[in-house]
Amino acid sequence: KAAGFPARKTLEDFDWDAQPAARQQIAGLASGGFLLEAQNVVLLGPPGTGKTHLATALGIVAARHGHRVLFATATDWVTRLTDAHRQGRLPQELARLRRYGLIIVDEVGYLPFEQDAANLFFQLVSSRYEHASLILTSNLPFSGWGGVFGDQAVAAAMIDRIVHHADVLTLKGASYRLRGRGIDSLPS
Ligand code: ADP
Ligand code: MG
Repeated sequence: KAAGFPARKTLEDFDWDAQPAARQQIAGLASGGFLLEAQNVVLLGPPGTGKTHLATALGIVAARHGHRVLFATATDWVTRLTDAHRQGRLPQELARLRRYGLIIVDEVGYLPFEQDAANLFFQLVSSRYEHASLILTSNLPFSGWGGVFGDQAVAAAMIDRIVHHADVLTLKGASYRLRGRGIDSLPS
């Protein structure tokens, strides 16, 4: 698992009946063309709707196309950038990460960021803008990102750069994890 994927999940494993609206868009992305144009992918939706699964599957596609890929949670990325910043090597770290054709940032929104962390994350997004792809997943719509980053202006500037060249998919419905378990819904 050199790329850091939490589990091996592929497009072939995905049950499209659970997310019929996403099928065509994902099929388009599966050609890998988005990586050549430094396009981003944003997967939004409630827990268990397949965001991490699809982000991983697209990461595997990217690796198959010969791109270098790194997967980590938003919290892990912030830890990594904070360490680099403390050691005075943030520019070098951002330059190194730009050599990865795809960086996946999973779970934006589960944990809020400190102001410093939000600024570091903004720098990651800026450094990749029109240069290399990002895939982000979040349980929150963009309107909720200001609360995560603790600053509406930073969140707005970041979303602007992410979405300028991006496919945004909103997954819907009940958690796939709860299927057949007699649980109707999660708190929302
Ligand atoms: P999320 O990241 O949106 O919370 P995950 O992608 O982790 O959800 O999905 C939760 C679990 O359900 C994983 O084991 C995933 O492989 C599986 N899963 C979710 N949606 C589907 C689907 N449409 N087809 C097959 N497996 C799915
Ligand atoms: Mg997930």
